Amino acid sequence: MLDTHHESEILDLYEIALLLNYERTSSEPRFRYTKLLEVASHELDFQTLLINTPIWTAHKGPKDGFVFQRMEPAVIADTGSREVPDLPSNMLPQIVYPLARDITQLAPDRLETIYWQARGHDSCFKSVAILQHFFDLYTTDPFIRIRLADGKEYFSSPSTRSIIEYELLTVQRLTIAVVLPENKAYATGSADQPRFKHAVVVFESHSYNGGVQTVLDLASMQFGDTGRGPGHSGKGTLVLESLDDYHNRLSSVAAGFRTTKISYHITPDPNEVNEAWMKKVAERAKERWENRNDHHWCGHCARPLANGPELKRCSACRDAYYCHREHQIKAWFSHHKRWCGKP
Ligand SMILES: [Zn+2]
Ligand SMILES: [Zn+2]
Repeated sequence: MLDTHHESEILDLYEIALLLNYERTSSEPRFRYTKLLEVASHELDFQTLLINTPIWTAHKGPKDGFVFQRMEPAVIADTGSREVPDLPSNMLPQIVYPLARDITQLAPDRLETIYWQARGHDSCFKSVAILQHFFDLYTTDPFIRIRLADGKEYFSSPSTRSIIEYELLTVQRLTIAVVLPENKAYATGSADQPRFKHAVVVFESHSYNGGVQTVLDLASMQFGDTGRGPGHSGKGTLVLESLDDYHNRLSSVAAGFRTTKISYHITPDPNEVNEAWMKKVAERAKERWENRNDHHWCGHCARPLANGPELKRCSACRDAYYCHREHQIKAWFSHHKRWCGKP
């Protein structure tokens, strides 16, 4: 473990990223309390819904379409609360719409991708803003420890960050997520957005540590499985890798890309409700990070895990925790393999 004297001042960027993404996606206002009703693709068109947008029909490349229905959750008996997080594991409705293709056949892997793909649309700017709110909660510039999937380690701090905005030219894969009953469609990669905006945060390691640039993309999975990281062949749900590796990744997402803006601060969301939600997400992540020794989370999805004999942990290091074996395997190949047992 880290020297306890400094522990509170060193932020592990990978763990922080997991927490921020869990807190963001499980409470995302646009998709809050929605359940998946239907999945369409370039091979199978929509059945339950008439998508009268030319964007869907015109797109000739790979495409994914999802229909979500907002369903008010039941009040939890013990607590009187409705605060059930939205997760890939509870995304299917209890009763499946009879005309839809059998979405109950979708494997957990596929459900996870759909979940992130839908919630990823337009959320790169939100996730950057949330990260910024998170850093703003620290009065002194903390150390950031960056552990990459390939075993490389860098030290940096929030003040070294730069927000890079890209224009992606012709994103290959179209994703449309429709939310009912408001019938609102969120599209990534459609032909009417030939210059698709994307934003990530880059950290530069301290000069004694080589001045290496590392990219954190918390919304990489809006591009589907191509956005899985954190490393080259990761099975995780975010990207954390060198700038060169990240540019290679962008080349497989879009026909081309260019950097349009580099800044330190992202402009606040003019919508006060959104801004308040993003701050709340940052605060919850900080609270969980500070309670990390008492309340563990899954090393793949960051779901909070209850203490007790049922708590599943890595048998080799006893220092990484998981929901179940599938998430442990994913986390192993994404990140833990190079870090198991290392301080
Ligand atoms: Zn998990
Ligand atoms: Zn381990």
